[in-house]
Amino acid sequence: MSSSTDFVLAIEDLTVSFDGFKAIDNLNLYVDKNELRVIIGPNGAGKTTLLDMICGKTRASAGSIKFKNEEMTTLPEYARVRKGIGRKFQTPSIYENLSVFQNLEVSFPKGRSVIGAIFFKCTDEVLAKVDSVAKEIGLLETLHTEAGLLSHGQKQWLEIGMLLMQEPELLMLDEPIAGMSTRERDLTAELLKRISNNRSVIVIEHDMEFVKKIAHKVTVMHQGKILAEGSMDKVQNDPAVIDVYLGH
Ligand code: ADP
Ligand code: MG
Repeated sequence: MSSSTDFVLAIEDLTVSFDGFKAIDNLNLYVDKNELRVIIGPNGAGKTTLLDMICGKTRASAGSIKFKNEEMTTLPEYARVRKGIGRKFQTPSIYENLSVFQNLEVSFPKGRSVIGAIFFKCTDEVLAKVDSVAKEIGLLETLHTEAGLLSHGQKQWLEIGMLLMQEPELLMLDEPIAGMSTRERDLTAELLKRISNNRSVIVIEHDMEFVKKIAHKVTVMHQGKILAEGSMDKVQNDPAVIDVYLGH
């Protein structure tokens, strides 16, 4: 319905069809301010497609996506970024030949292009922001390292940092710990918990140990719909969830 809500994200009756196949089928989802929500579900459930629709990469066939009470479905991707929706894709899109510092600096909202931003005179504001983000993502010691030389995990954190430079109020991450070592996974769990102290975060993840560590609430998707939702305990003991996902 079109009523006003306190949710950061309110999705209602959302549907997308690809040649008649409904990858997202009449889905409702509500995310609170400062909530860390994890979405799980079998391959092909529609998890990535849902994030694509929230960030504007894929247009809805029907339904509503409200971000802070404002309808997003008609807005292009860049406009949603400006409204405060940040999205991390599975493969990091960092500039390998720039330093960590430069990668963060070019992500400051005033730097519109790589070239423009490199020659953009560093203001104290930008420097302070780069510093605080680098600290948050654990890369303060590697600020002047070329990004291409970072470990796999550090590259993932750098991309999260690049998103944080824009101060998103909703940050979405698709399988952020894939390929990470145990130690990197633990650090990422801590990072995501810190990040969600002052913004909402949606994470798609398969690793149930990791999900258990970070999730406030878990949403289980299946065939473009929501199969179950609630605490980790609740969904883990739900027979329908065990049947389609956890039992395999
Ligand atoms: P998940 O991330 O949960 O594994 P996806 O969202 O990637 O699932 O995919 C959900 C379903 O939608 C799959 O059957 C996939 O093949 C289909 N799909 C996704 N994107 C497209 C597209 N652009 N065109 C056609 N089918 C698509
Ligand atoms: Mg996916």
